[in-house]
Amino acid sequence: MKKLALHWQILIGMLLGLIFGFAMTFVSGGKEFVIDWIKPFGAIFVKLLKLIAIPLILASLIKGISDLKDISKFRNMGLRTIITYVITTIVAITIGLVLVNIFQPGNGISEETVAKLTDTYASDSGVQSKLATAAAQKSSGPLQFLEDMVPDNAFKAMSNNGLMLQVIFFAIFFGISMLLIGEKAAKPMKDLFDSLNDIVLKMVDLIMLTAPYAVFALLANVVVSSSDPDLLLALLKYAGVVVLGLLFMIVFYTILVSTLTKKNPFWFLKEISPAQLLAFSTSSSAATLPVTMERVEEHIGVDKEVSSFVLPVGATINMDGTSLYQGVAAVFIAQALGFPLDLGGQLTIVLTALLASIGSAAVPGAGMVMLVIVLEAIGFPADKLAIGLALIFAVDRPLDMCRTVVNVTGDATVSMLVAKAVGKLGEPVEKKWDDHYEEVK
Ligand code: ASP
Repeated sequence: MKKLALHWQILIGMLLGLIFGFAMTFVSGGKEFVIDWIKPFGAIFVKLLKLIAIPLILASLIKGISDLKDISKFRNMGLRTIITYVITTIVAITIGLVLVNIFQPGNGISEETVAKLTDTYASDSGVQSKLATAAAQKSSGPLQFLEDMVPDNAFKAMSNNGLMLQVIFFAIFFGISMLLIGEKAAKPMKDLFDSLNDIVLKMVDLIMLTAPYAVFALLANVVVSSSDPDLLLALLKYAGVVVLGLLFMIVFYTILVSTLTKKNPFWFLKEISPAQLLAFSTSSSAATLPVTMERVEEHIGVDKEVSSFVLPVGATINMDGTSLYQGVAAVFIAQALGFPLDLGGQLTIVLTALLASIGSAAVPGAGMVMLVIVLEAIGFPADKLAIGLALIFAVDRPLDMCRTVVNVTGDATVSMLVAKAVGKLGEPVEKKWDDHYEEVK
Protein backbone atom coordinates (compact mmCIF):
# COMPACT_ATOMS: atom_id res chain seq x y z
CA MET A 1 0.00 0.00 0.00
CA LYS A 2 1.29 3.45 -0.89
CA LYS A 3 2.27 5.40 2.19
CA LEU A 4 0.23 8.50 2.92
CA ALA A 5 2.13 11.73 2.21
CA LEU A 6 3.58 13.39 5.30
CA HIS A 7 1.29 16.41 5.16
CA TRP A 8 -1.77 14.16 5.16
CA GLN A 9 -0.45 12.21 8.11
CA ILE A 10 0.12 15.46 10.01
CA LEU A 11 -3.29 16.81 9.06
CA ILE A 12 -4.99 13.66 10.28
CA GLY A 13 -3.03 13.90 13.55
CA MET A 14 -4.13 17.50 13.95
CA LEU A 15 -7.75 16.72 13.26
CA LEU A 16 -7.82 13.80 15.68
CA GLY A 17 -6.10 16.00 18.28
CA LEU A 18 -8.77 18.66 17.86
CA ILE A 19 -11.59 16.13 18.15
CA PHE A 20 -10.00 14.41 21.12
CA GLY A 21 -9.31 17.70 22.92
CA PHE A 22 -12.86 18.84 22.28
CA ALA A 23 -14.31 15.56 23.55
CA MET A 24 -12.14 15.77 26.67
CA THR A 25 -13.63 19.14 27.58
CA PHE A 26 -16.92 17.28 28.21
CA VAL A 27 -15.41 14.59 30.40
CA SER A 28 -14.83 15.30 34.06
CA GLY A 29 -11.07 15.41 34.65
CA GLY A 30 -10.54 15.39 30.87
CA LYS A 31 -8.64 18.63 30.81
CA GLU A 32 -6.27 17.46 33.55
CA PHE A 33 -5.80 14.16 31.73
CA VAL A 34 -4.73 15.96 28.56
CA ILE A 35 -2.40 18.28 30.46
CA ASP A 36 -0.80 15.49 32.51
CA TRP A 37 -0.63 12.70 29.97
CA ILE A 38 -0.88 14.11 26.45
CA LYS A 39 0.68 17.57 26.52
CA PRO A 40 4.19 16.32 27.45
CA PHE A 41 4.50 14.47 24.13
CA GLY A 42 3.85 17.69 22.22
CA ALA A 43 6.32 19.52 24.44
CA ILE A 44 9.00 16.88 23.86
CA PHE A 45 8.57 17.21 20.10
CA VAL A 46 8.96 21.00 20.24
CA LYS A 47 12.01 20.58 22.44
CA LEU A 48 13.58 18.16 19.96
CA LEU A 49 13.11 20.65 17.15
CA LYS A 50 14.59 23.44 19.21
CA LEU A 51 17.43 21.16 20.25
CA ILE A 52 18.74 20.93 16.72
CA ALA A 53 18.10 24.53 15.66
CA ILE A 54 21.45 25.97 16.76
CA PRO A 55 23.64 23.11 15.45
CA LEU A 56 21.70 23.26 12.19
CA ILE A 57 22.14 27.00 11.72
CA LEU A 58 25.79 26.79 12.60
CA ALA A 59 26.60 23.85 10.35
CA SER A 60 24.52 24.87 7.37
CA LEU A 61 25.53 28.52 7.41
CA ILE A 62 29.23 27.78 7.76
CA LYS A 63 28.96 25.14 5.06
CA GLY A 64 26.95 27.49 2.84
CA ILE A 65 29.47 30.30 3.12
CA SER A 66 32.50 28.12 2.77
CA ASP A 67 31.03 26.76 -0.48
CA LEU A 68 30.85 30.27 -1.95
CA LYS A 69 33.21 30.93 -4.78
CA ASP A 70 33.42 34.62 -4.00
CA ILE A 71 32.37 36.74 -1.04
CA SER A 72 30.73 39.50 -3.08
CA LYS A 73 27.98 36.98 -3.92
CA PHE A 74 27.15 36.80 -0.26
CA ARG A 75 26.84 40.57 0.01
CA ASN A 76 24.51 40.57 -2.97
CA MET A 77 22.38 37.82 -1.46
CA GLY A 78 22.30 39.48 1.96
CA LEU A 79 21.12 42.76 0.56
CA ARG A 80 18.45 41.14 -1.59
CA THR A 81 17.19 39.13 1.37
CA ILE A 82 16.83 42.10 3.69
CA ILE A 83 15.17 44.28 1.04
CA THR A 84 12.71 41.55 0.08
CA TYR A 85 11.88 40.93 3.72
CA VAL A 86 11.16 44.59 4.30
CA ILE A 87 8.96 44.79 1.19
CA THR A 88 6.87 41.72 2.08
CA THR A 89 6.43 43.02 5.62
CA ILE A 90 5.22 46.41 4.40
CA VAL A 91 2.78 44.68 2.05
CA ALA A 92 1.50 42.62 4.99
CA ILE A 93 0.94 45.61 7.27
CA THR A 94 -0.75 47.52 4.45
CA ILE A 95 -3.13 44.63 3.76
CA GLY A 96 -3.96 44.46 7.46
CA LEU A 97 -4.61 48.18 7.74
CA VAL A 98 -6.75 48.32 4.60
CA LEU A 99 -8.91 45.42 5.80
CA VAL A 100 -9.34 46.70 9.34
CA ASN A 101 -10.38 50.10 7.99
CA ILE A 102 -12.88 48.55 5.59
CA PHE A 103 -14.47 46.14 8.06
CA GLN A 104 -14.01 48.20 11.24
CA PRO A 105 -14.39 45.22 13.60
CA GLY A 106 -13.80 47.39 16.67
CA ASN A 107 -16.75 49.67 16.04
CA GLY A 108 -19.36 46.96 16.33
CA ILE A 109 -18.19 45.66 19.67
CA SER A 110 -20.57 46.41 22.55
CA GLU A 111 -19.67 48.08 25.84
CA GLU A 112 -20.71 44.93 27.71
CA THR A 113 -18.27 42.84 25.71
CA VAL A 114 -15.48 45.33 26.37
CA ALA A 115 -16.33 45.24 30.07
CA LYS A 116 -16.50 41.45 30.14
CA LEU A 117 -13.19 41.04 28.33
CA THR A 118 -11.56 43.62 30.58
CA ASP A 119 -12.85 41.89 33.71
CA THR A 120 -11.67 38.53 32.51
CA TYR A 121 -8.24 39.40 31.20
CA ALA A 122 -6.92 42.85 32.21
CA SER A 123 -5.29 41.52 35.35
CA ASP A 124 -4.62 38.06 33.91
CA SER A 125 -1.02 36.98 34.40
CA GLY A 126 -0.68 36.42 30.63
CA VAL A 127 -1.55 40.03 29.81
CA GLN A 128 0.54 41.39 32.68
CA SER A 129 3.60 39.38 31.68
CA LYS A 130 3.35 40.70 28.11
CA LEU A 131 3.24 44.26 29.42
CA ALA A 132 6.25 43.63 31.64
CA THR A 133 8.28 42.09 28.81
CA ALA A 134 7.39 45.00 26.53
CA ALA A 135 8.47 47.52 29.17
CA ALA A 136 11.83 45.77 29.52
CA GLN A 137 12.38 45.76 25.73
CA LYS A 138 11.39 49.37 25.30
CA SER A 139 13.94 50.86 27.65
CA SER A 140 16.75 50.20 25.15
CA GLY A 141 18.34 52.69 22.71
CA PRO A 142 17.82 52.79 18.91
CA LEU A 143 20.99 50.86 18.04
CA GLN A 144 20.55 48.31 20.78
CA PHE A 145 19.46 45.67 18.27
CA LEU A 146 22.79 46.05 16.43
CA GLU A 147 24.73 45.75 19.64
CA ASP A 148 22.66 42.73 20.64
CA MET A 149 23.52 41.00 17.40
CA VAL A 150 27.20 40.73 18.30
CA PRO A 151 27.99 38.07 20.91
CA ASP A 152 30.80 38.49 23.40
CA ASN A 153 30.95 34.80 23.98
CA ALA A 154 30.30 32.37 21.12
CA PHE A 155 29.43 29.50 23.43
CA LYS A 156 27.04 31.58 25.46
CA ALA A 157 25.29 32.61 22.23
CA MET A 158 25.00 28.97 21.22
CA SER A 159 23.53 28.05 24.56
CA ASN A 160 20.43 30.17 24.11
CA ASN A 161 17.88 29.70 21.33
CA GLY A 162 16.78 33.31 21.81
CA LEU A 163 20.18 34.48 20.62
CA MET A 164 19.82 33.13 17.10
CA LEU A 165 21.04 36.35 15.48
CA GLN A 166 24.25 36.14 17.51
CA VAL A 167 24.81 32.61 16.28
CA ILE A 168 24.17 33.76 12.72
CA PHE A 169 26.69 36.56 13.20
CA PHE A 170 29.30 34.15 14.53
CA ALA A 171 28.69 31.64 11.74
CA ILE A 172 29.02 34.28 9.00
CA PHE A 173 32.18 35.67 10.57
CA PHE A 174 33.62 32.18 10.94
CA GLY A 175 32.62 31.14 7.40
CA ILE A 176 34.14 34.23 5.79
CA SER A 177 37.36 33.76 7.73
CA MET A 178 37.39 30.17 6.57
CA LEU A 179 37.20 31.29 2.95
CA LEU A 180 40.08 33.66 3.56
CA ILE A 181 42.51 31.02 4.79
CA GLY A 182 42.34 29.24 1.44
CA GLU A 183 40.75 26.00 0.35
CA LYS A 184 43.50 23.66 1.50
CA ALA A 185 43.79 24.97 5.03
CA ALA A 186 40.02 25.15 5.43
CA LYS A 187 39.33 21.62 4.21
CA PRO A 188 39.27 19.80 7.57
CA MET A 189 36.81 22.30 9.04
CA LYS A 190 34.71 22.25 5.90
CA ASP A 191 34.48 18.46 6.00
CA LEU A 192 33.53 18.62 9.66
CA PHE A 193 30.69 21.07 9.08
CA ASP A 194 29.53 19.24 5.93
CA SER A 195 29.17 16.10 7.91
CA LEU A 196 27.59 17.86 10.90
CA ASN A 197 25.08 19.40 8.55
CA ASP A 198 24.11 16.01 7.08
CA ILE A 199 23.78 14.54 10.55
CA VAL A 200 21.51 17.32 11.80
CA LEU A 201 19.32 17.09 8.71
CA LYS A 202 18.99 13.37 9.38
CA MET A 203 17.89 14.24 12.90
CA VAL A 204 15.15 16.39 11.36
CA ASP A 205 13.99 13.38 9.31
CA LEU A 206 13.90 11.22 12.42
CA ILE A 207 12.04 13.80 14.49
CA MET A 208 9.53 14.21 11.69
CA LEU A 209 8.63 10.53 11.93
CA THR A 210 6.85 11.43 15.16
CA ALA A 211 5.21 14.60 13.83
CA PRO A 212 1.72 13.15 13.24
CA TYR A 213 1.54 11.99 16.88
CA ALA A 214 3.09 15.16 18.27
CA VAL A 215 0.61 17.46 16.54
CA PHE A 216 -2.18 15.36 18.02
CA ALA A 217 -0.83 16.16 21.49
CA LEU A 218 -0.19 19.83 20.69
CA LEU A 219 -3.68 20.46 19.33
CA ALA A 220 -5.48 18.48 22.02
CA ASN A 221 -3.73 20.71 24.53
CA VAL A 222 -4.61 23.91 22.65
CA VAL A 223 -8.28 22.92 22.68
CA VAL A 224 -8.48 22.10 26.38
CA SER A 225 -6.61 25.30 27.31
CA SER A 226 -8.64 27.63 25.10
CA SER A 227 -10.86 30.43 26.32
CA ASP A 228 -14.57 30.55 26.93
CA PRO A 229 -16.32 30.03 23.54
CA ASP A 230 -18.63 33.03 24.16
CA LEU A 231 -15.65 35.35 24.32
CA LEU A 232 -14.20 33.79 21.19
CA LEU A 233 -17.48 34.48 19.40
CA ALA A 234 -17.50 38.13 20.45
CA LEU A 235 -14.15 38.54 18.75
CA LEU A 236 -15.12 36.65 15.62
CA LYS A 237 -15.17 39.70 13.37
CA TYR A 238 -11.75 40.87 14.52
CA ALA A 239 -10.30 37.38 14.17
CA GLY A 240 -11.97 37.07 10.75
CA VAL A 241 -10.24 40.23 9.54
CA VAL A 242 -6.84 38.94 10.69
CA VAL A 243 -7.40 35.56 9.06
CA LEU A 244 -8.63 37.14 5.83
CA GLY A 245 -5.49 39.30 5.73
CA LEU A 246 -3.33 36.25 6.33
CA LEU A 247 -5.05 34.43 3.47
CA PHE A 248 -4.34 37.39 1.20
CA MET A 249 -0.69 37.08 2.18
CA ILE A 250 -0.63 33.43 1.14
CA VAL A 251 -2.14 34.45 -2.20
CA PHE A 252 0.47 37.19 -2.48
CA TYR A 253 3.26 34.62 -1.94
CA THR A 254 1.85 32.30 -4.57
CA ILE A 255 1.77 35.20 -7.04
CA LEU A 256 5.41 36.01 -6.21
CA VAL A 257 6.42 32.37 -6.63
CA SER A 258 4.67 31.92 -9.95
CA THR A 259 5.74 35.23 -11.51
CA LEU A 260 9.29 35.50 -10.20
CA THR A 261 10.43 31.88 -10.10
CA LYS A 262 8.07 30.48 -12.77
CA LYS A 263 7.35 27.49 -10.52
CA ASN A 264 3.88 26.13 -9.90
CA PRO A 265 2.63 27.84 -6.71
CA PHE A 266 0.49 24.84 -5.74
CA TRP A 267 3.51 22.61 -5.92
CA PHE A 268 5.31 25.11 -3.69
CA LEU A 269 2.49 25.08 -1.14
CA LYS A 270 2.30 21.29 -1.20
CA GLU A 271 6.02 20.83 -0.66
CA ILE A 272 6.18 23.38 2.12
CA SER A 273 2.98 22.20 3.81
CA PRO A 274 4.55 20.02 6.54
CA ALA A 275 6.41 23.11 7.78
CA GLN A 276 3.20 25.15 7.64
CA LEU A 277 1.29 22.54 9.60
CA LEU A 278 3.99 22.44 12.24
CA ALA A 279 4.05 26.23 12.42
CA PHE A 280 0.31 26.07 13.07
CA SER A 281 0.64 23.36 15.70
CA THR A 282 3.63 24.84 17.57
CA SER A 283 3.01 28.62 17.08
CA SER A 284 6.75 29.06 16.80
CA SER A 285 8.70 29.82 13.65
CA ALA A 286 11.92 29.14 15.55
CA ALA A 287 10.83 25.62 16.46
CA THR A 288 9.67 25.06 12.87
CA LEU A 289 12.94 26.33 11.37
CA PRO A 290 14.72 22.95 11.03
CA VAL A 291 11.72 21.56 9.15
CA THR A 292 11.41 24.67 6.98
CA MET A 293 15.08 24.31 6.06
CA GLU A 294 14.74 20.66 5.24
CA ARG A 295 11.63 21.21 3.09
CA VAL A 296 13.07 24.17 1.22
CA GLU A 297 16.39 22.47 0.47
CA GLU A 298 15.36 18.89 -0.18
CA HIS A 299 11.85 19.35 -1.57
CA ILE A 300 11.98 22.71 -3.32
CA GLY A 301 15.56 22.79 -4.53
CA VAL A 302 16.87 25.95 -2.91
CA ASP A 303 20.64 25.68 -2.58
CA LYS A 304 22.06 25.53 0.94
CA GLU A 305 24.15 28.62 0.24
CA VAL A 306 20.88 30.57 0.12
CA SER A 307 18.58 28.74 2.52
CA SER A 308 21.16 28.54 5.30
CA PHE A 309 21.26 32.32 5.44
CA VAL A 310 17.80 33.42 4.33
CA LEU A 311 15.76 31.09 6.56
CA PRO A 312 17.38 31.58 9.99
CA VAL A 313 17.52 35.32 9.40
CA GLY A 314 13.89 35.21 8.27
CA ALA A 315 12.79 33.23 11.32
CA THR A 316 14.16 35.98 13.52
CA ILE A 317 13.42 39.16 11.61
CA ASN A 318 10.77 38.47 8.98
CA MET A 319 7.31 38.09 10.42
CA ASP A 320 4.74 39.10 7.87
CA GLY A 321 1.86 37.42 9.67
CA THR A 322 2.82 39.00 12.97
CA SER A 323 3.09 42.50 11.53
CA LEU A 324 -0.24 42.16 9.72
CA TYR A 325 -1.81 41.09 12.99
CA GLN A 326 -0.20 43.99 14.85
CA GLY A 327 -1.66 46.47 12.38
CA VAL A 328 -5.15 44.99 12.64
CA ALA A 329 -4.99 44.58 16.42
CA ALA A 330 -3.77 48.13 17.06
CA VAL A 331 -6.57 49.67 14.98
CA PHE A 332 -9.15 47.27 16.41
CA ILE A 333 -8.23 48.23 19.96
CA ALA A 334 -8.29 51.92 19.07
CA GLN A 335 -11.73 51.53 17.46
CA ALA A 336 -13.17 49.53 20.33
CA LEU A 337 -11.96 51.95 23.00
CA GLY A 338 -12.82 55.08 21.00
CA PHE A 339 -9.22 56.19 20.57
CA PRO A 340 -8.99 58.46 17.49
CA LEU A 341 -6.52 57.35 14.85
CA ASP A 342 -5.74 59.58 11.87
CA LEU A 343 -3.66 58.83 8.80
CA GLY A 344 -0.45 59.88 10.60
CA GLY A 345 -1.26 57.38 13.34
CA GLN A 346 -1.80 54.63 10.79
CA LEU A 347 1.51 55.43 9.08
CA THR A 348 3.19 55.25 12.48
CA ILE A 349 1.68 51.77 12.79
CA VAL A 350 3.28 50.75 9.48
CA LEU A 351 6.70 51.86 10.65
CA THR A 352 6.53 50.55 14.20
CA ALA A 353 4.90 47.25 13.20
CA LEU A 354 7.74 46.79 10.70
CA LEU A 355 10.34 47.38 13.40
CA ALA A 356 8.34 45.42 15.95
CA SER A 357 8.09 42.34 13.75
CA ILE A 358 11.85 42.48 13.27
CA GLY A 359 12.25 42.65 17.03
CA SER A 360 9.68 39.95 17.84
CA ALA A 361 11.05 36.66 19.07
CA ALA A 362 9.99 33.67 16.99
CA VAL A 363 8.11 32.06 19.86
CA PRO A 364 4.44 31.73 20.80
CA GLY A 365 2.77 34.98 21.76
CA ALA A 366 5.76 37.22 21.02
CA GLY A 367 3.76 39.33 18.58
CA MET A 368 1.51 40.53 21.38
CA VAL A 369 4.48 41.85 23.34
CA MET A 370 5.55 44.00 20.43
CA LEU A 371 1.96 45.12 19.92
CA VAL A 372 2.36 47.03 23.17
CA ILE A 373 5.19 48.99 21.59
CA VAL A 374 3.09 49.71 18.49
CA LEU A 375 0.25 50.96 20.70
CA GLU A 376 2.58 53.20 22.64
CA ALA A 377 4.01 54.66 19.44
CA ILE A 378 0.55 55.86 18.39
CA GLY A 379 0.11 57.57 21.74
CA PHE A 380 -2.27 55.05 23.26
CA PRO A 381 -2.69 55.90 26.97
CA ALA A 382 -0.42 53.76 29.13
CA ASP A 383 -3.11 53.10 31.75
CA LYS A 384 -5.37 51.58 29.09
CA LEU A 385 -2.77 49.18 27.67
CA ALA A 386 -3.88 46.31 29.87
CA ILE A 387 -7.48 46.82 28.73
CA GLY A 388 -6.35 46.95 25.11
CA LEU A 389 -4.55 43.65 25.37
CA ALA A 390 -7.42 42.13 27.36
CA LEU A 391 -9.69 42.80 24.39
CA ILE A 392 -7.77 40.53 22.07
CA PHE A 393 -6.26 38.05 24.50
CA ALA A 394 -8.98 35.42 24.18
CA VAL A 395 -8.28 34.83 20.49
CA ASP A 396 -4.55 35.37 20.60
CA ARG A 397 -3.53 31.74 20.60
CA PRO A 398 -5.53 30.68 17.52
CA LEU A 399 -4.42 33.82 15.69
CA ASP A 400 -0.84 33.16 16.75
CA MET A 401 -1.10 29.72 15.16
CA CYS A 402 -2.35 31.25 11.90
CA ARG A 403 0.14 34.11 11.76
CA THR A 404 3.05 31.74 12.41
CA VAL A 405 2.01 29.80 9.27
CA VAL A 406 2.31 33.03 7.30
CA ASN A 407 5.64 33.90 8.94
CA VAL A 408 7.08 30.56 7.88
CA THR A 409 5.56 30.66 4.38
CA GLY A 410 6.97 34.17 3.90
CA ASP A 411 10.47 33.00 4.80
CA ALA A 412 10.22 30.03 2.45
CA THR A 413 8.93 32.24 -0.38
CA VAL A 414 11.75 34.74 0.01
CA SER A 415 14.34 31.96 0.09
CA MET A 416 12.98 30.80 -3.26
CA LEU A 417 12.97 34.29 -4.75
CA VAL A 418 16.53 35.00 -3.61
CA ALA A 419 17.71 31.59 -4.81
CA LYS A 420 16.18 32.22 -8.23
CA ALA A 421 17.75 35.69 -8.44
CA VAL A 422 21.24 34.42 -7.68
CA GLY A 423 20.93 31.29 -9.84
CA LYS A 424 20.69 28.85 -6.95
CA LEU A 425 17.23 27.36 -7.45
CA GLY A 426 17.73 23.83 -8.78
CA GLU A 427 15.98 20.50 -8.78
CA PRO A 428 15.25 19.10 -5.32
CA VAL A 429 17.00 15.91 -4.22
CA GLU A 430 14.98 14.29 -1.48
CA LYS A 431 16.76 12.35 1.25
CA LYS A 432 14.87 9.83 3.34
CA TRP A 433 15.55 8.93 6.93
CA ASP A 434 16.39 5.34 5.99
CA ASP A 435 18.62 5.93 2.95
CA HIS A 436 21.51 4.19 4.73
CA TYR A 437 19.52 2.08 7.14
CA GLU A 438 20.32 -1.22 5.40
CA GLU A 439 24.04 -0.64 5.99
CA VAL A 440 23.69 -0.39 9.74
CA LYS A 441 20.66 -2.53 10.48
N1 ASP B 1 4.50 32.98 17.17
C1 ASP B 1 5.03 33.81 16.13
C2 ASP B 1 6.22 33.14 15.48
O1 ASP B 1 6.89 32.36 16.10
C3 ASP B 1 5.39 35.17 16.63
C4 ASP B 1 4.13 35.90 17.05
O2 ASP B 1 3.48 36.46 16.16
O3 ASP B 1 3.75 35.87 18.20
O4 ASP B 1 6.48 33.37 14.33
